Amino acid sequence: MSTMPLYLDYAATTPVDPRVAEVMARHLTLEGTFANPASRSHMSGWLAEQVVETGRRQVSDLIGADPREIVWTSGATEADNLALIGYMRAHRARGRHLITSSIEHKAVLDSAAALEQEGFEVTYLAPCANGTVSPETLREAMRPETILVSLMAVNNELGSINDLQALGTIAAEHGAAFHVDAAQAAGRIELDMSRMPIDMLSLSAHKAYGPKGIGALYVRRGTRIEALIHGGGHERGMRSGTLPTHQIAGMGQAFSLAHEEQASDNAHLEMLGQRFRDGLSRLEGTWINAEGGAHVPNIINAGFEGVDGEGLIMALRGLAVSTGSACNSASVDPSYVLTGIGMPRERALASIRFSFGRFSRIEEIDQALESLSNALESLRTRQSA
Ligand SMILES: *Cc1c(COP(=O)(O)O)cnc(C)c1O
Repeated sequence: MSTMPLYLDYAATTPVDPRVAEVMARHLTLEGTFANPASRSHMSGWLAEQVVETGRRQVSDLIGADPREIVWTSGATEADNLALIGYMRAHRARGRHLITSSIEHKAVLDSAAALEQEGFEVTYLAPCANGTVSPETLREAMRPETILVSLMAVNNELGSINDLQALGTIAAEHGAAFHVDAAQAAGRIELDMSRMPIDMLSLSAHKAYGPKGIGALYVRRGTRIEALIHGGGHERGMRSGTLPTHQIAGMGQAFSLAHEEQASDNAHLEMLGQRFRDGLSRLEGTWINAEGGAHVPNIINAGFEGVDGEGLIMALRGLAVSTGSACNSASVDPSYVLTGIGMPRERALASIRFSFGRFSRIEEIDQALESLSNALESLRTRQSA
């Protein structure tokens, strides 16, 4: 009999909350609200449209936005593409310069690279060692032709939190729009579009106990973007395609729970995070990456002297954890996020990301620490033998 590993990879994806799964199941079958929400000629279509609009309100409520500012997408990847490419193309006559950072998610970095192919210019800011972009660095990079700044709220490998207020204010002072990838931030930190200087915000359901395959882009009223996906003109022309009623109901329910339970979720995560940090500090030759700035409690990136992360993950077979490194056929490349904050290659390769969430228990943190302690001892003994 095989048992599933202990799940400590919540930053990669979260399990769907059972309360969300239950709502989703009501929108699939003949007895449920399965109809096409764009069907205007019958009651079934109207009911499905109501489900979509309820979801839209639940998502907008979490971020202090108006429901009409929410554009459904397939996830944060598509939202990032739509924000960067859709905005730069729509405003190319005003300027061709985009600013982002070198440790953004690939959805942003690869969109920026695609824009460079189209003739746009991109500046990739170097973050501080604590994983945040300093407002001063952004200010120095702003140019008259800068029309968009894209920086993430919470880094998915480090858990570091950017000062969105300060960064967005600088973008606005220079007449540039500000896009924020908030995939890891929803339900963790305050996101209030009614008072924050943010023009576009990418969201994903599956990082917040909703289903994979659904997300949204918040687009502040009056912000013009070009569609990337053309079709029936859904979502006020910004994103065509039949809306997935069950996915939207799931994301809405997940974000509504995130709203109600943000305080208790975060208190639980703080407690687990502290326990894990205390445990790590008792293990020899261990350090925590990107310390010193604001941080979410549930993502801890730690390094282990004298071992390589991939080897340690192999030895930790009972734990579902990850490194940010990419395996090529010939070699292993360290995480671009860790090298991006200035870590030497060998320290980056000795690092692992641990992330936990709503369903993690204190016994699991203790068990993870115990497994780590055993794995480190056996790896280091083997090496010194
Ligand atoms: C997971 C993640 C994404 C991608 O979101 P999907 O919904 O899986 O497309 C983008 N940005 C960040 C920071 C993420 O953590």
